[in-house]
Amino acid sequence: MSKRKNKGFKKSKNKPNRSEKRYGKPNSSRGGPSKGKDKTASHRGRKTLTAEVTCSGLTNEGKGIAEWKGQQLEVPLLLPGEKAEVTVSQKGRFVNAELKRVVHPAKERVDPPCPYYYECGGCQLQHMSNQAQSRCKQDTIDELMKPFGKPETILTMDHPYDYRNKSHTTFGLNQNRQVIGGLYAQNTHEIIPMDRCLIHDPKADEIVQSIKDYMKNSKMQPYNEDTGRGFLRHVLIKVGKVSGEIMVVLVAASSEFKGKNNFVKALRKAHPEITTMLLNVNKRDTSVVLGNQEKVLFGKGTITDTLCGLKFEISAKSFYQINPVQTEKLYGKAIEMTELTGEETVIDAYCGIGTIGLVASQKAGKVIGVELNKDAVRDAIQNSKRNGVKNARFYQGDAGEFMVEMAARGEKADVVIMDPPRSGSDEAFLSSVVKLQPKRVVYVSCNPETQARDLEYLVKNGYEVEEIQPVDMFPQTYHVESVAKLVLKEN
Ligand code: SAH
Repeated sequence: MSKRKNKGFKKSKNKPNRSEKRYGKPNSSRGGPSKGKDKTASHRGRKTLTAEVTCSGLTNEGKGIAEWKGQQLEVPLLLPGEKAEVTVSQKGRFVNAELKRVVHPAKERVDPPCPYYYECGGCQLQHMSNQAQSRCKQDTIDELMKPFGKPETILTMDHPYDYRNKSHTTFGLNQNRQVIGGLYAQNTHEIIPMDRCLIHDPKADEIVQSIKDYMKNSKMQPYNEDTGRGFLRHVLIKVGKVSGEIMVVLVAASSEFKGKNNFVKALRKAHPEITTMLLNVNKRDTSVVLGNQEKVLFGKGTITDTLCGLKFEISAKSFYQINPVQTEKLYGKAIEMTELTGEETVIDAYCGIGTIGLVASQKAGKVIGVELNKDAVRDAIQNSKRNGVKNARFYQGDAGEFMVEMAARGEKADVVIMDPPRSGSDEAFLSSVVKLQPKRVVYVSCNPETQARDLEYLVKNGYEVEEIQPVDMFPQTYHVESVAKLVLKEN
């Protein structure tokens, strides 16, 4: 299946360009100082020139596709039907294209509401209208799932902003040695100072703002990756959207937190809604945010939130879906696809903190959850107790190995729900599903490309895809979630 199938928007009646916009920071990897048309510059074997192209479609990452000298360019920020000047740089066989100026904008183009959009890279679709974003994701799913039938219409979000219940801010100093906090610019360790990220929970950004203010008036220093000096590396905030509980995690380079009491007192005073604070120590030179050492500064060290009518405890490290509004739609659909009657044995594979399995347990005979992450399994067990669930068991281990052992013991399962990470499942797991012969498999995925690959395996081995439902869990980004229902074919 090609990623590069044309997904053209209808051609717009072209309006003249509103203004010459700079798509990126000066001298950054995007945009940059303009070079004269058709002028070719050369630097260390890299040739750079400006070309005029017309966009014919979108990739699955929302980049514009354009033909240039017999090659297919992928241009971030370019939309189907648009005519534009792009900066093409070529080194050997490697070609990179960046948008320089839109000559005729598409009607789907909108001004991105986020002022950091062109620098940040965290969102990739803010230059498209909401409708165009949905169409882009629908087209991606329709194309990938073509061998299995026609997917349903994507479930969108009414207010596609402020949705993230987890935010992550990195701290540093600017050239004037002032404290800054924000997100890394795409593919760099350069911090973009930001006051607000439009997909974060607004409360989380207010708290980050207070931490910045506190640092300006205290001796608390941000960590410097180059010198290894300083204290605060990142701040992670988790918000219980229903419960209103808030967790603040300071990720520091040292466990010695001078002025700890003052800090905790000041932040709680400014934000009484914070219910717990932790210090996580990460001394390693790594891009992984959280270290292994954790100390509770205040409160119980976890927050609880309600999802699909059940209460879940969330710790700093465990995985919890970041868009709870859309998660309820996704889980609702997944449970509907299981067609549970109260008798079945259900496997919840890659179960995280047990969310899907516990929701399913209300309609099943029993639920068996398996998950690799120890902390998540501990949370899942706690969560089943908290909700008075008596028919669910959770096990720590590799889902593939677990299923192989189950199949070898000749155990039975009526329904398998699987929700693997972006890399998808593996042959050990899928071949065991085929051996166990559950009547239904419900496959939840945050990466439809690996989902399509795994569906193909199951379809070749006796299953039929009955329904596919895309869900927009991550508005403004190209990511799309999808849930598929497979049924065992009658012999
Ligand atoms: N179903 C959960 C979590 C889905 S995310 C929810 O909706 O919240 C995918 C989960 O798979 C993560 O919790 C990750 O820790 C887990 N995982 C990754 N590789 C795994 C493996 N090989 N075996 C079991 N679980 C795995």
